[in-house]
Amino acid sequence: MVTYAAPINDMMFLFEKLKDNPHYCELEKYKEVNSDLAKDILEQAAKITENLILPLAKVGDEIPATFENGAVRTPPGYKEAYKKFIEDGWVSLSCDPEYGGQGIPKTISAFFDEMLSSSSLSFKLYSELSIGAYNCILHHGTESIKKKFLPKIVKGIWSGTMCLTEPACGTDLGLLKTKAVEQPDGTFELSGQKIFITSGDHDLTENIIHLVLARTPDAPSGTKGISLFLVPKIQVKEDGSLGPRNGVSTNSIESKMGIKGSATCVLNFDGAIGYMIGPKNKGLGSMFTMMNLERIVVGIQGLGISEIAYQNALNYSKERKQGKTNNSKTKNLTKLLKKINFLKSQNEANLIIDHADIRRSILNMKSIIEGERALSFWLAQQTEVSLHHSDKKIKQEASDFVSLMTPVVKSLFTDMGMEITSDAMQIFGGYGYTKDQGIEQLYRDNRITPIYEGTNSIQSIDLVFRKLINKDRNVIGRYIKSIEEEIKKNKNHPQIKPLAEKLNYYLKTMINFTIWIEKNMKVSKDDVSAACNDYLKVLGLIALSYSWLKVLAVSYKEMNTNKKFFEDKIETANFFFKRVLPRIDAHYNSAISGTKYIMDFKFN
Ligand SMILES: Cc1cc2nc3c(=O)[nH]c(=O)nc-3n(C[C@H](O)[C@H](O)[C@H](O)COP(=O)(O)OP(=O)(O)OC[C@H]3O[C@@H](n4cnc5c(N)ncnc54)[C@H](O)[C@@H]3O)c2cc1C
Repeated sequence: MVTYAAPINDMMFLFEKLKDNPHYCELEKYKEVNSDLAKDILEQAAKITENLILPLAKVGDEIPATFENGAVRTPPGYKEAYKKFIEDGWVSLSCDPEYGGQGIPKTISAFFDEMLSSSSLSFKLYSELSIGAYNCILHHGTESIKKKFLPKIVKGIWSGTMCLTEPACGTDLGLLKTKAVEQPDGTFELSGQKIFITSGDHDLTENIIHLVLARTPDAPSGTKGISLFLVPKIQVKEDGSLGPRNGVSTNSIESKMGIKGSATCVLNFDGAIGYMIGPKNKGLGSMFTMMNLERIVVGIQGLGISEIAYQNALNYSKERKQGKTNNSKTKNLTKLLKKINFLKSQNEANLIIDHADIRRSILNMKSIIEGERALSFWLAQQTEVSLHHSDKKIKQEASDFVSLMTPVVKSLFTDMGMEITSDAMQIFGGYGYTKDQGIEQLYRDNRITPIYEGTNSIQSIDLVFRKLINKDRNVIGRYIKSIEEEIKKNKNHPQIKPLAEKLNYYLKTMINFTIWIEKNMKVSKDDVSAACNDYLKVLGLIALSYSWLKVLAVSYKEMNTNKKFFEDKIETANFFFKRVLPRIDAHYNSAISGTKYIMDFKFN
């Protein structure tokens, strides 16, 4: 079975040393969230994820969620764990105290999201969509809807879902058919079918609050005619108590490659009573409040799964002995173990961690994961500023950065999750492919993350076609400027200078790529479409390097306070700049080669 130790040291390092957004530090409500409180929360979070939730991952994979007699049953142990989970207040961590939440900032709750994703993504999903539904209702619901539904969602005794997908409507939401007919009392009756609904039904909560996209009979076609509705599984009376069953039923659940403990449901709506949330025909905009935050969380799922895959690959490489290494420099760990009589014979094979290629693979994982964690911490600060700052301009600027980086974090972290879980499996060799060690489950569980919440291709199209070319605000220009400033700050630092120069070189490549996109947008949209994935990767690698540059500056400054920790950071950063950042060359050169051989090809 896989093991997991929450990386609290790295998280606390970011929380204490990399709060680099001055506007985040101005937020009144978070001034009292000091290091002691952060550490206390993370230690409690580590306890529950390592001890209570991690064992559920294997259980959920072996005994998946089931559907019998019209009801969904979660895997053994989920009910008891969920009860403890909500009693300890974990669902309410980041929610508004006005509705019973604890008001903890995303700079901490994002770390908890990572820990949960590492320990069991299937279990996490039962509460994850509740937070999404909470955010959507908080921003777009009327006061009476908020009062009636939010406190119970925040407590975790009701859960939430997000119902967009239909049999013939996936990426293209303009095709959706579910109907909503207004009733004389102002409620709506919804009819249609939704598929692939995460936590659409289960036995963990007494009610489930579905947020459903549907069309009224007079709505225009396409995405301009979509409205958003709140539809409870069990009707809720005026006083908040439960009424009769609503017209929502579960048709079936999916049998899947991974996240088998999570119930993915086909839901039928047969005249189900619902309440419109937000303005008529503007439902997609309201739903995007939920989807945008959710996309960042999906990125963090990729990060969390990568972390546990990395930890287990590293541990295994320190136990498994095969072959002889070439280089005496790499024999240090083996020598040390011989000294303490761990390895008996001089002729014995070396530990695989002493092989250069295994070291490369593990450092590749580590440098990507720690860069991602630093980037997501930066994004959490921007998100808090975008939601809570009192100055409108500062709020808007932060919101623009969040919007730019959301598709990057969602896609890059989940794609890297595939690379890292695959490489971790490779380090385990044949034992990785068989079920014994549990490493192949991480690969299977992560595989959904590049698909749901909008596929990664769609994220890259969103980045390039909607977010990059935004003449009103030139967000990418502002982002580039902030990186240039960081490079300038470090240009006279003897050790950081070469890395800053390397980043500067690749930043120029990204600027050239951006200009290429702007030009080709006018002449060949296919060229741009086929370049979107590469552009997203280039921006993502630049964003990770920018994070690493800031980590480096702190590491040299603080070296004396924790030499071992900061030396580790510096070496990992060096690996990233030398071995990962140059991937940009391949992405750029491949993308600008155009689409003649792609669009002219005749598939038989
Ligand atoms: C386990 C699981 C859980 C899910 N949970 C939920 C949930 O809770 N709620 C919910 O509403 N949905 C959920 N989904 C649905 C999920 O969001 C969709 O599967 C996803 O958005 C893709 O839609 P699709 O499967 O219909 O693929 P399609 O839209 O048919 O896409 C097929 C392929 O074509 C590509 N493509 C499509 N359009 C374009 C384009 N314009 N340009 C370029 N490429 C394009 C896609 O990237 C993809 O590779 C879940 C799915 C799964 C498997």
